[in-house]
Amino acid sequence: MSDDLAGELLRRLEADRDRAVGFLQDLLQAPSPNPPGDTRAVADLVLAALHAAGLEATVISPHPQMPNVIASFQGERPGRHLVLNGHMDVFPVAAHEWRRDPWGAALDEGRIYGRGACDMKAGLASLLLAFLHLHAMRDRLAGKLTFTAVSDEETFGPWGARYLFEHHRALMLGDCLLSGEPSSPLCVRFGEKSPYWIAITVRAAGGHGAYTHVSASATKIAGRIATALEAVTEIPTHPPDNLMAMFRDAQIAAQIDAGCGAGHAAIIPEVTLNIGRLSGGLKMNVLPSECRIEADIRLPIGTTRTELRSHIERIMADFPDATWEEISPPEDQPSWSDPDGEMMQLLRATANELRGSLPVPVVTLGGTDTRLWRYHGVPAYAYGPSPESMGGADENVLVEDYLHILRTHTLASARYLRQ
Ligand SMILES: [Zn+2]
Repeated sequence: MSDDLAGELLRRLEADRDRAVGFLQDLLQAPSPNPPGDTRAVADLVLAALHAAGLEATVISPHPQMPNVIASFQGERPGRHLVLNGHMDVFPVAAHEWRRDPWGAALDEGRIYGRGACDMKAGLASLLLAFLHLHAMRDRLAGKLTFTAVSDEETFGPWGARYLFEHHRALMLGDCLLSGEPSSPLCVRFGEKSPYWIAITVRAAGGHGAYTHVSASATKIAGRIATALEAVTEIPTHPPDNLMAMFRDAQIAAQIDAGCGAGHAAIIPEVTLNIGRLSGGLKMNVLPSECRIEADIRLPIGTTRTELRSHIERIMADFPDATWEEISPPEDQPSWSDPDGEMMQLLRATANELRGSLPVPVVTLGGTDTRLWRYHGVPAYAYGPSPESMGGADENVLVEDYLHILRTHTLASARYLRQ
C-alpha cells in the first residue's frame, strides 16, 4: 500500500476519533446479555451506521431476537475477499458486583466501562468503523470486504455464526477472516483450544442417611470420579513442533502472559479440567441415589476428542455405577491457522509501526466463532483489546487500546486488499 493511502486513512481516523468513542459508548448502552441474547438494539445501531454511509445490509434472523447483519462492498479492481466478524451479544451481568452501571458506558480516566467493553463491543465497533473508512476509500482497493455482526456467540448458541455457516455459507466464506475478539494489543490470536464437555451420572440405591451399610452414596462416588478425572490433565500432548518451540520461548511466553494474564502461556499445550457442576442428594440425612457431574475439559492443539474419549473410558471403567456422555458438539476441535500467515504478518507489522511494540502469536484458551472459519479452511486471526476484565465486574477497555485496535484493523485490512 502506498504511504499515501495509509496516511490518509490515519488522518481520517484521527478526525473521526470522537465519533469512534461515542459509537462504542452507544453500543455499550444497548444491553445484549446472553442469555437471553436479545441483540436487536445493537443490530439497530450497526444498521444505522451502515445506512448512514449509504450501505445496504442483509439481516438474517433465524431467531426473532437474534438478528445477524452482513454487508459487503467491492473494491475498484478484482481481488481477494476479506471478512470481518464480530459478535453483538455479551456475557450476563451480576449487577450487585459492579461499582459502575454495566450499561452506562462511563468514560473515566481513559477507560470506558460497561458489559461487553472488551468482549467484544470494542472489537465490533472497531471492525465496523474500519469497514466504513475502507468503504469510503474503495476506489483505491482491490477485492471484496465483508462485515458480519452476529448474535448468539457467548453460549456457543445455534442462532449466530453457526446458523449462517449452515444456511448461508457463501456469505460467510472468504480468503481470510479478521476478528476483534480480545487478544490484548501485545498478542494476535491464531488458534484456540477446544471445549470437550462431558456429563456423568452416578446412580445408587439410596436410603436412610444412618444406614450407610445398605447402599453406596452417589455423591461420594461422584467425588471420587471428580478426583480420578484429574488424570486427564496429565495426558501427554503433542502440538506441532513449531508451536511448542514458540510457547516454550521464554520471551514469547512472558509477552503472552503480560497480554493475556499470568500463567496463560504455560497451559496452552495442556489438557485442563474444570468440574463446573457437581450436584446430587436430597437432604442431609438421606443417602443420595443420584449425582451429576458436568466437566469442562479443554483440548490443546494436536489432541483429539478420540484420544480423550479413550482416556475417559479407562477412568470410568473403575466406576460401574456411573454413565457418561459427551455434551459439546462433535464437530468441536482445537483449531489454528498458520502462525506465520499473511494476515498475522500484516497485523504484527502494522501494530508495531503504530505503537512500537511487536505483538506475538497466541492461542486462546476459550472458544470463539473464528473456529468456524478455520473448520472451512479459511485462515482466521483476532486482534483486540486486553481480555483482563472480560466477563467480570466493571469490564472496561482503555480508550487508547480501542483506538489502536481500530487503526490496526483499518490499515492491515487495507494492506490485505491492496496485495
Ligand atoms: Zn467474545
